[in-house]
Amino acid sequence: MDFNDKVVIVTGGGQGIGRCIVQTFADKGAKVVIADIDDEAGIENEEYIKSKGGDSLFVHTDVSLEKDVGNLVDKTIKTYGKIDILINNAGVGARGTIYTRPMEEWDRVINVNLRGTYMCSKYVAPHMRDNGGGVIINIASTRAFMSEPHTEPYSASKGGIIALTHSLAISLGYDKIRVNSISPGWIEVSEWKKSREAKKPQLTEEDHLQHPAGRVGKPEDVANACLFLCSEEASFITGANLIVDGGMTVKMIYV
Ligand code: ADP
Repeated sequence: MDFNDKVVIVTGGGQGIGRCIVQTFADKGAKVVIADIDDEAGIENEEYIKSKGGDSLFVHTDVSLEKDVGNLVDKTIKTYGKIDILINNAGVGARGTIYTRPMEEWDRVINVNLRGTYMCSKYVAPHMRDNGGGVIINIASTRAFMSEPHTEPYSASKGGIIALTHSLAISLGYDKIRVNSISPGWIEVSEWKKSREAKKPQLTEEDHLQHPAGRVGKPEDVANACLFLCSEEASFITGANLIVDGGMTVKMIYV
């Protein structure tokens, strides 16, 4: 798969899965724009790509703020002249429980995860259309289909992203813009992120064996799914949701 000279925006590209998506596209020759609220992580990733001979630009962006999203798209067009791929990956989890959570927390999660995904797509789509097409990937979650207790805002935002994906695919299809979502399951925290955290999560053998694939997912599993869905090899796939969870969602639990 060749992404030479493709211009890719990755929201939430500073750390976690987004950081890995940025590095994976950069390795394939893409020019990668990192849009993140975390300046330290975003600048560090930009410098890492450049140190390996790649082309990258960090733009401080809060995807829930319209002025930031407008600025992100303006800077990308000024720097690279076009946008081929948008990966809507920026996301936040919900704090508290339904008993304790103020409504502002619902708004925060929906605004970043769902509204942010729509707003970035809205600002990028005209440039893709005028350039002959493009690809949008929205990072959803298996939490759209199954839940732990007290994840309502997060699960609802991710379910919304899947509905938004097929709706956008229909609206933008004739402009040659494909739109798909990816639903990651349990993805292990990256080594880089672990190095920043005081409390380092440890996985047990049992955690891995919960998955029919025999292991918990890695950020690379999601990044590789992005590469495929953005490639010419996936030119007939739009409006789809690809589950990347090692088989966890379809596993029958015997009680
Ligand atoms: P995961 O492990 O699922 O990748 P992370 O929390 O590591 O989750 O990554 C989410 C990324 O999204 C982080 O880099 C974070 O700074 C970024 N992010 C969170 N909120 C926003 C926002 N409002 N705008 C842009 N980026 C955001």
